[in-house]
Amino acid sequence: MTRIKKLLVANRGEIALRIMRSARESGIKTVAVFSEADRQALHVRFADEAICIGPPPSNESYLRMDKLLEAARLTKADAVHPGYGFLSENEDFAQQVEDAGLIFIGPSSKSIEIMGNKLAAKDAVSKFKVPLVPGTAEPIDDVAKAKKIAKEVGYPILIKAAAGGGGKGMRIVDREEDFQEQMDRAVSEATSSFGDGSVFIEKYITQPRHIEFQIFGDKHGNVVHLFERECSIQRRHQKVVEEAPSSILTPEIRKAMGEAAVNVAKSCDYYGAGTVEFIMDENLNFYFLEMNTRLQVEHPVTEMITGIDLVKLQISIAEGEKLPFKQEELTMHGHAVEVRVYAEDPANNFMPDIGKLKTYQRPQGNGIRVDDGFEQGMTIPIYYDPMIAKLICHAETRELAMDKMIRAIDEYEITGLETTLGFCKYVMQHKAFRSGQFDTKFVEKYFKPEVLASTPQEDEELLAVVLSTIAEPKPVAKETTIAGGTESKWKKNRL
Ligand code: ADP
Ligand code: ADP
Ligand code: MG
Repeated sequence: MTRIKKLLVANRGEIALRIMRSARESGIKTVAVFSEADRQALHVRFADEAICIGPPPSNESYLRMDKLLEAARLTKADAVHPGYGFLSENEDFAQQVEDAGLIFIGPSSKSIEIMGNKLAAKDAVSKFKVPLVPGTAEPIDDVAKAKKIAKEVGYPILIKAAAGGGGKGMRIVDREEDFQEQMDRAVSEATSSFGDGSVFIEKYITQPRHIEFQIFGDKHGNVVHLFERECSIQRRHQKVVEEAPSSILTPEIRKAMGEAAVNVAKSCDYYGAGTVEFIMDENLNFYFLEMNTRLQVEHPVTEMITGIDLVKLQISIAEGEKLPFKQEELTMHGHAVEVRVYAEDPANNFMPDIGKLKTYQRPQGNGIRVDDGFEQGMTIPIYYDPMIAKLICHAETRELAMDKMIRAIDEYEITGLETTLGFCKYVMQHKAFRSGQFDTKFVEKYFKPEVLASTPQEDEELLAVVLSTIAEPKPVAKETTIAGGTESKWKKNRL
């Protein structure tokens, strides 16, 4: 057991802040690193110490292992948390942190390496009882052979990059005639994005749901799961709305998937927090997709339904503690939903819309959590992920959580740039989503940008009350005079 005294967070923005908050509660000092674009950032102001690690582009700052390790040395930090994105799934970084005598808050370098490659991962789990999507177990090098396999599997198929991530490097092939062309594209995309052109085939599930399990292991061989999250509302194969629990899992399927997830973790001697992703077809068959060896963006929904602080748990596991609970002691409470607030324009194919947060006011109230890293007046830097915030709501039931989310979105005021908030409200109100009958094709099937089209703005005052992506202006409460009173006791809603 080694107690961590000072933690360097090798990340930025909302996740850096979220990690530092838990560290501070545990009496751990925090070190922020920042690029020149983030000098004024909230994570820098929050930390006990902060070190500038270079110019804005991430490959000159947040991705520079040498600078991060130098920052840890200078500040005498004894542990490093990588957050997500950046170096969080880089086995060399995990190894270098440990070689420098520091604690890496995450799994072993070896586990990251195995699960970092989708084919190596499938190979590792094949010895355990984990269902895999039909397809190839090896990279395709012979097109004729690959076409034969594709025919057996049945079109449509998906060509996927073994080293893929972030929804990139995937190509759907509907018929054999297109195979060669799509394969060439997939290989060149994989080479340019991941520096590794290996691709493989998976059956393309046509009405899939994305269901993932949060798992946790300790360094003593114990592994549990903390239930599922459903992340089927996606654009560009990337999540925008997540919830826990999933609306379609029965206790039996939950048990079977949870056991499979624990087996995936065991197949690579996993410790720390991880996520095992599955895809589910319309007959509720589930298949292992991949494992993410880090904290996930959508981890707060799990925190809300279990009441467990996942970052504190990561820290205690890294210190060498045993898991403080057994599987049968874990229970779920109520329902949680998260929406990702991206600086993107849903009306323009979700293209990034970077700019200044002219107004920025968070919603508040019972069961509402906002994880963000910005304040009014700040500019979203163009160099990094365009996520501004995550808005999470927790209530007794799914219906009530959705209603709370709609209220929270209405209360959230962001002007100066377009965001995904209006789109997320549309999702919350949609019949298919409400009823639980939806899949990863939701956006293609139902979403038309027209539903968010802004009404012409008459003046600056109206502009201020119109949520940038939502058509109707917010209702302004009527001024009312109490009978007999000399002046109004009720002020107009201040917006
Ligand atoms: P995946 O999409 O790989 O299944 P997640 O949904 O958890 O997993 O998303 C991880 C993504 O979060 C990264 O690929 C990256 O685009 C994004 N990201 C990385 N760092 C940050 C950050 N500091 N703030 C917000 N988003 C980030
Ligand atoms: P990444 O590493 O980019 O996160 P994943 O394998 O997790 O890659 O897939 C991301 C998303 O792509 C899934 O959530 C799902 O929407 C879609 N997808 C992946 N594999 C399949 C498949 N075999 N059939 C249908 N959709 C898939
Ligand atoms: Mg994934």
